[in-house]
Amino acid sequence: MSYFTGLQCSMCGTTFPAEALYVCDQCLGPLEATYDVAKIRASVSRELIERRPPNLWRYREFLPIEGEPRTGFFSGFTPLVRADRLARELGLSELYLKDDSINHPTLSYKDRVVSVAATRAVELGIKIFGCASTGNLGNSVAAHAARLGLQCYVFIPRTLEPAKILGSAVPGPHVVAVDGTYDDINRLCTQVGDRYGWGFANINLRSYYAEGAKTLGFEIVEQYGWRFPQHVVSPVAGGTLLPRIGRGFREFREAGLVSGDLPKIHAAQAEGCAPVIHALDEGLAHPDPVKPNTIASSIAIGNPADGFQVVKTVRETGGSGATATDAQMIDAIHLLACTEGIFTEPAGGATLAATISLVERGVIQKNESVVVCITGNGYKTSTVMADSLRKPTELGRSLKEFKEFFARCHEQHQADE
Ligand SMILES: *Cc1c(COP(=O)(O)O)cnc(C)c1O
Ligand SMILES: [Zn+2]
Repeated sequence: MSYFTGLQCSMCGTTFPAEALYVCDQCLGPLEATYDVAKIRASVSRELIERRPPNLWRYREFLPIEGEPRTGFFSGFTPLVRADRLARELGLSELYLKDDSINHPTLSYKDRVVSVAATRAVELGIKIFGCASTGNLGNSVAAHAARLGLQCYVFIPRTLEPAKILGSAVPGPHVVAVDGTYDDINRLCTQVGDRYGWGFANINLRSYYAEGAKTLGFEIVEQYGWRFPQHVVSPVAGGTLLPRIGRGFREFREAGLVSGDLPKIHAAQAEGCAPVIHALDEGLAHPDPVKPNTIASSIAIGNPADGFQVVKTVRETGGSGATATDAQMIDAIHLLACTEGIFTEPAGGATLAATISLVERGVIQKNESVVVCITGNGYKTSTVMADSLRKPTELGRSLKEFKEFFARCHEQHQADE
């Protein structure tokens, strides 16, 4: 019961068989999965979806696999958290966090895209699975490859945070730490994929990988009560996620599962790596590559593969873009934790900080509904927080010492009020 029909060039429309292909041999445009839309419309319903287990495969009619899912049985269907304390700080009345920082099993949005790419890799008979990663993707590829018993190679920049390197290493793949930026590594992996016939989740399996990101959009609609919110703010790295949130919204509307105007989709990037935001500001269709310089390593991609699609989606939905400095990201990480108890990484800090700018600029109005996508977990990037945290108070074991300490706390509270 698969409605997946093959691949098609998103630029010139040439169709291709459903293999490990990702660029058009006619025009070099990216290939995208196609479906039998009429059959999907005739067979899916809200009730059918709601009866299924709470994972990303509840939307399987919209995903590019031919047989049964192989992994990701607990991935996706992350909480849509109503964030009233944070909303009050921002002066908003209706704010939600789509919390992929607790995605199963590797704590980022990447568990969605990898569940789909890995399932498809098995269907295509691929034996060696890999990726070019800024950190979270490597964690997810290593974990899903282990579960499926695939050989695995994870390529990362040498400068990643220790916990992200560790997370990739634990499931036992070959971790290759390259002296170069993500963009250099992507080039190397493209050559390796061509030369050895391996499956790289985000390179030659990218057409399948990208489809997994639609599920974040599907979940926003379902969890918001089969409605569209008015705004969605998404981080942008390689540009997979943001356009697929938009595609997910459109496909759900075409399938008759939701109606109304699409949300405005806004892009968030780090000021030190903002090729898409520059393109939006300067009216360009294709972002110019930049050299990244930011603490937000997971979104430090200077030459986004799907930059064109991000720019197009933001413009088509009436969205906008905003950047965040490293200091603004750290402040936003604290604000999120102190208001809602959610600890995100700098990419999440950038997304929240960008949301704050959009509210200040009046792009997002106070009484409009907003969903902010929190895509990664702060426990992996604790090193970036070290300088901005209050150290624990060290005390002895006597009640007397505690009393003195508590008196100081009390004074502090009164001074704050
Ligand atoms: C990969 C990643 C993103 C977005 O990446 P895209 O390539 O634009 O889909 C956002 N946040 C985190 C934490 C990520 O790891
Ligand atoms: Zn083409």
